[in-house]
Amino acid sequence: MTTQRKPLIAGNWKMNLSGSEASALTDACAREASTNPNVDVAIAPPAIWLERVLRIAKDTPLHVWGQNAAEEPNGAFTGETSFPMLLDAGASGALLGHSERRHVFGESNESVAKRAALGVSLQAHIVLCVGEQLDDRKSGKTIDVVREQLAPVLEVVPFERLTVAYEPVWAIGTGETATPAQAQETHAQIREILIETYGEDAQCVRILYGGSVKPDNAQELLSQPDIDGVLVGGASLTADSFAAIIAAATV
Ligand code: PEP
Repeated sequence: MTTQRKPLIAGNWKMNLSGSEASALTDACAREASTNPNVDVAIAPPAIWLERVLRIAKDTPLHVWGQNAAEEPNGAFTGETSFPMLLDAGASGALLGHSERRHVFGESNESVAKRAALGVSLQAHIVLCVGEQLDDRKSGKTIDVVREQLAPVLEVVPFERLTVAYEPVWAIGTGETATPAQAQETHAQIREILIETYGEDAQCVRILYGGSVKPDNAQELLSQPDIDGVLVGGASLTADSFAAIIAAATV
């Protein structure tokens, strides 16, 4: 039996956009989400713009996530944003373990799992980012690295609350994209790990691909059987390119 997974197109705005740009882009994303009911659309804006984004997204099908969430619910953690805050503002979940968080800010697999456990206890959706570095791929360790990143998080997150984003680190913001065949191979291996962990029910978990996705490569990536959507950085920052990627998911 084939499980139908609704495509999910998500934009990670990172540390970009002014308040007025964020409002205008949210408006465009909400319109795209409303006119494409066969695709789920999500954005992860900078925390400072969450409230304005959520005001615009209210009563539309657009999903809004945090870009990260702290290990703790509150306390002396200057500069952090916690799951209770994100959810109080109206976000439905958060990216966790994005490669920039792992490799620029040094967040470990265990730290990511601790954040995930807190999010799950508060009914948040967890969008777990995993992916290997170039050396790992060259030495044939891609799936070993990804398995290590998945394992502690799968222990604490039920499959109903999980989306996985496979983002090879060497393809993020570099213009290098994994070929559709390379991405499909790893997605199929991730799917096997999900099924080993949760059983066949995990067929419904969406696995997104991320790494230099653009309007001209989105359709081929999305046509792979285990690529259920994309997580988009640079190309999510303009309404036209993000809309073109959403359109690619409807073909
Ligand atoms: C990302 O930040 O998750 C990402 C995939 O970025 P880009 O699309 O710019 O490579």
